[in-house]
Amino acid sequence: MSRRWSRDPGTLSAAFASRPVRTTMDVQAQRPPLLELNTTLIKSSSRLPLSGSRLKRGPDQMEDALEPAKKRTRGVGAVAKVDTFRPRGPLSTVSQTQGHTAAPKGPKKTGPRGCSAVGTVLRNQKPAPTAPAQKPGTSAAPVVVGKKPGKRPAWDLKGQLCDLNEELKRYREKTQTLDRENQGLREQLREVQEQATTLGTERNTLEGELASVRAQAEQSQQKLETQSARILQLEECLGTKERRLQELQEEQLQLQEERSTLSTQLEERERKLQASEAALSSSQAEVLCLQEKAAAQATLLAEQGDRLYGLQMERRRLHNQLQELKGNIRVFCRVRPVLAGESTPSPGFLVFPPGPAGPSDPPTRLSVSRSDDRRSTLTGAPAPTTRHDFCFDRVFPPGSKQEEVFEEISMLVQSALDGYPVCIFAYGQTGSGKTFTMEGGPRGNPQLEGLIPRAMRHLFSVAQEMGGQGWTYSFVASYVEIYNETVRDLLATGTRKGQGGECEIRRAGPGSEELTVTNARYVPVSCEKEVEALLHLAHQNRAVARTAQNERSSRSHSVFQLQISGEHAARGLHCGAPLNLVDLAGSERLDPGLALGPGERDRLRETQAINSSLSTLGLVIMALSNKESHVPYRNSKLTYLLQNSLGGSAKMLMFVNISPLEENVSESLNSLRFASKVNQCVIGTAQANKK
Ligand code: ADP
Ligand code: MG
Repeated sequence: MSRRWSRDPGTLSAAFASRPVRTTMDVQAQRPPLLELNTTLIKSSSRLPLSGSRLKRGPDQMEDALEPAKKRTRGVGAVAKVDTFRPRGPLSTVSQTQGHTAAPKGPKKTGPRGCSAVGTVLRNQKPAPTAPAQKPGTSAAPVVVGKKPGKRPAWDLKGQLCDLNEELKRYREKTQTLDRENQGLREQLREVQEQATTLGTERNTLEGELASVRAQAEQSQQKLETQSARILQLEECLGTKERRLQELQEEQLQLQEERSTLSTQLEERERKLQASEAALSSSQAEVLCLQEKAAAQATLLAEQGDRLYGLQMERRRLHNQLQELKGNIRVFCRVRPVLAGESTPSPGFLVFPPGPAGPSDPPTRLSVSRSDDRRSTLTGAPAPTTRHDFCFDRVFPPGSKQEEVFEEISMLVQSALDGYPVCIFAYGQTGSGKTFTMEGGPRGNPQLEGLIPRAMRHLFSVAQEMGGQGWTYSFVASYVEIYNETVRDLLATGTRKGQGGECEIRRAGPGSEELTVTNARYVPVSCEKEVEALLHLAHQNRAVARTAQNERSSRSHSVFQLQISGEHAARGLHCGAPLNLVDLAGSERLDPGLALGPGERDRLRETQAINSSLSTLGLVIMALSNKESHVPYRNSKLTYLLQNSLGGSAKMLMFVNISPLEENVSESLNSLRFASKVNQCVIGTAQANKK
């Protein structure tokens, strides 16, 4: 049988359990019918009427009559032991007892139901496919049993026997039918068992499948949960993204607005650009035109540069010719004003006659009137005055400004840049205004600035101008003091400050004519500020020394040297020369009538040294003027140090500073005489140090 059952094992079991319980009656059909009949006959003979009445009933009535089980079973109706259908056990047999009914051994519920059980079977059972078809007339027992036999008189035993035999026969047939049915049922049972086995196997398979399906379901459930969690996450993510999307959309809107604004601006700019391009193209044409003009002008410029260079050379030549005409040694006289607290000199003491060209002409002469007190005393008459006239290259009366003084010497500074050694001295007695002339008055007043700062500013400015013409200049400064024939560095710093360790004047190298001061600082300078700092340092150094030796500054020469180096790379020109600005020691002489105390001896020695060096300076100038073979440079430290800036190619300027006071007339006359001698000197043609 390949009938398909429901896969639900519960349903399957229920279906199996609900199958009708099959009952059977085991009839001992093997017994000889006659013996059985006899037995029945013997036992039932005494109660025939009863049995007869019973026999009149149909099987149903019989069944009813037999119920309940407690009733005693009588008569032919065999007691059938009805058992519930047990699929695996052997079929139960119904034992039939003769004459009496054996007590049922099974449960009362399934107690003997006699024919009723058989009837039930017969009613409920559908004809098995394998069961043989019943013959007509031998149909179900109830039909036969329900046939009422004719009533026989009591005495008709034979007839009764015949009836009984008939009945027996029917029962046998019925038994046979039941056997066949039983056989069919057994086959059915076997089939059902096979089906059950198959179904069991199928059930196991299905259970396995069910387990795997459950496992899959669990897995699916887990997956589902995971997916749900993931979906939740994704939903959250989606929410975030949606918000972000919204933000981005808003941003996009803003950007679109900006874009539209920018587009408008861009269009505007493009319009401007087009306009600019048009302007540019016209400008380019203009530029081309201008470039051509520029090229032409560059050529012109080069030509003019050459011309300028030629003119410069000419200017230099003429300038120096003029200097030569003026003399390579020039002397300027400067008279300082009367200071507050000083006695005003008598009128006519100092006279500054105007120049030959008239009052507007700068004065070059000075007259000093000196009263001869000795002659007055002797004669008793008013003291006669003696007039001393002096003539110099230029005379500066007391009211002259620093600026005017510098104007006159600026030409010399230009000469220094052109490569001529220049030496400017300030000569005069102490207090005559030498330092004022060279360095200037109190600091902080630009109008009182002296020659050194003004000369430096002029040099730097001219050097810068000449830079445009291809010249490059460098400047190195030094500042020393010569006191009692010893040289001291005024730019010393640190431990040497104020001490000014011993310095010596040496040649810069073997065979070199250049002189240098050992242990002295040579400081490169490129601007006024640097020079100002150096002057300040020198002032400090002098102040320290002054405490050690009183008024030493006025008893010493101070020499500011600036080494100028110029180069014209394009034309391969070099020039170099020193510019010397010298503040000489006081020229006053010691009064020979004064008695010399112990402290005065040192002063005498100083004075002698000063006088010696100043007279050596005069002698050197004289020797140069007279073109003597020997020039006594080495007779003093000062002339030795200035050796290369005196004579020959050098240009020299001497300021003779004069006190306006009558009481200083003697020293003033001495200074003026010395200066006049110098002024009379003419030193050969100056030559620039050019290579
Ligand atoms: P020296 O250096 O010759 O000893 P100073 O230069 O120290 O003399 O001058 C002495 C004083 O005279 C200083 O107080 C100075 O300021 C003053 N003095 C000198 N020359 C002038 C001048 N041309 N104008 C104003 N004051 C001057
Ligand atoms: Mg001085």
